[in-house]
Amino acid sequence: MQIIPFDDRDGVIWMNGTMVPWRDAKVHVLNHGLHYASCVFEGERVYDSQVFKLGEHSERLRKSAELIGFTIPYTVEELNEATKQVVAAQQVENGYVRPFAWRGSEKMAISAQHNKIHVAIATWPWPPYYSDESRQKGLRLCFADWRRPAPESAPTASKAAGLYMICTISKHKAESAGYQDALMLDYRGYIAEATGANIFMVIGDELHTPLADCFLDGITRRTIIDLARKQGITVIERHIKPEELAKAREVFLTGTAAEITPVGEIGDYTFTLGDVTKKLTDSYHKLVRTKVAGY
Ligand code: PMP
Repeated sequence: MQIIPFDDRDGVIWMNGTMVPWRDAKVHVLNHGLHYASCVFEGERVYDSQVFKLGEHSERLRKSAELIGFTIPYTVEELNEATKQVVAAQQVENGYVRPFAWRGSEKMAISAQHNKIHVAIATWPWPPYYSDESRQKGLRLCFADWRRPAPESAPTASKAAGLYMICTISKHKAESAGYQDALMLDYRGYIAEATGANIFMVIGDELHTPLADCFLDGITRRTIIDLARKQGITVIERHIKPEELAKAREVFLTGTAAEITPVGEIGDYTFTLGDVTKKLTDSYHKLVRTKVAGY
């Protein structure tokens, strides 16, 4: 498959309040977002022309920015409206949306109190994050060398660009060794998440997932917890040690991009693609395509 670079495409990108031709949506190389990671972003999915949980994503974008010390100059309603406009302009029926905000170029030093806050929203058609084969067989994960930092060491609840530095290093190392992703532990040694998705385990008849106290509490994670509880499954959020993977029958990842993807192995632990994962996958796919009134 030929991959077209993201700076060489047609269409429009919503940028600071207006639609800008795709190729003109540029920044100067001297901007604070690039040099000091003053940048937050979202990842959303469009299903049948409707963005799933749009309001929650717009709220999280604003919250992520507050957590790293700046305010996005648009309300949640304005961000929702802009997203709908760009999805319609791009005629994306099934795809991805990437809203992001960053500090501009007024000052290029650690202190950048009055730099302009820029906001852009781009969207494009997008296939599943993991290949069909991985989704059927289950992903192969290794353990990452890097650990999710403590909330006292980084703004861990923010979807901030800077927090992805250790994710890209870990994902690249995993891919180079023939795995699809890496499982990251947290600073205490508990299971945290994959490099861009949360993790669930079926242990006995229950669903267990790490307590989101030092990593992103994913919107998909919360959706799956809800769906599982509605189906009468007991869901337990707690600190989970890596050795406990030996007790897990099924394991899956969740995320806007990953949706629900079964995991076949993590290091020496192996799992099967079982009924709990299949049932939750079916109900998730039904839910994301449900028409929401007033959308
Ligand atoms: N953790 C990380 C590090 C992520 O990048 C993502 C994807 N946004 C998630 C978890 C899952 O979050 P969500 O379900 O909100 O997409």
